[in-house]
Amino acid sequence: MNEQTKELPKACSDETAAAEFLERQRWGPDPYCPRCESRRVHQLRQRGNGARSKRFLWYCEICQRQFTVRIGTVLEDSRIALRHWCYAFWAACASKKGVSALQIHRMTGVSYKSALFLMHRIRFALADDPITPARMEGTIEVDEAYIGGKPRHKGPRSKRGMGTDKQPIIALLQRGGDVRAYVPVGVTARNIGRIIHENINPARARLITDESWAYTKIGRRFFGGHDTVNHGRKEYVRGDVTTNRVEGFFSLIKRGMYGTFHAVSRKHLHRYLAEFAYRYNTRKMNDGDRVTLAVKSAVGKRLRYREP
Ligand SMILES: [Zn+2]
Repeated sequence: MNEQTKELPKACSDETAAAEFLERQRWGPDPYCPRCESRRVHQLRQRGNGARSKRFLWYCEICQRQFTVRIGTVLEDSRIALRHWCYAFWAACASKKGVSALQIHRMTGVSYKSALFLMHRIRFALADDPITPARMEGTIEVDEAYIGGKPRHKGPRSKRGMGTDKQPIIALLQRGGDVRAYVPVGVTARNIGRIIHENINPARARLITDESWAYTKIGRRFFGGHDTVNHGRKEYVRGDVTTNRVEGFFSLIKRGMYGTFHAVSRKHLHRYLAEFAYRYNTRKMNDGDRVTLAVKSAVGKRLRYREP
């Protein structure tokens, strides 16, 4: 058990411990002002007993202004107690299948609406930076899946998610590396081609997909080649040509969605995908380090909608 994991249970039940935990994860031993980055800062203390001020305020001698650990993060302009944030960060990072707002509501006592708000912000923190990340290289498995909803009718067409209210998702998985997942506007060769183009460097990559027509054109650009498995003929592995890993990622999402999240609206689906990708991409870390990284990822991100 590492240090963070030992501290977390207390940070989830005690507000002072929560503030100090979040401060340490964000700033390390050397706190600085989130506005001017000066280290000439000190904690404000209560008169008399010398305890930390009620809102865990800091004072920057350069800006001559107060700040808290919430400033400049997804916690800013939220009144939800810091210990509940700690619990939600921990739960989102520690459970393989993720955590639902209902669980947060039951465990912390915050309203269900507040719990929803909290989880949306945490998912936002876990998502990649809006700045386009570096393009992937190496052997990349790409596949689509359909999740959520119930098929309206049985029949061959519902197999690919047509005629249902299921949402398409697409995932790109670099073998031995990271996964990225998106909600395409529609499963067309054009949309899929654009997502692949933005995320993979074809000059230094090999593409592995199923035989869907949507990959044919973009596949020709890959210097490393484009190999396909024929799922229609029940072919799943041919040498190292397989999309088993990306399908494994989809089954994690599906188990999580059906078990934990029930119905997820299309509007929020990309955030759920970000949460699953975050857990997958940090799979070699322990829970404590994953929480630290999640708290650090909360810095510099703001979501502009009102807390209920
Ligand atoms: Zn300052």
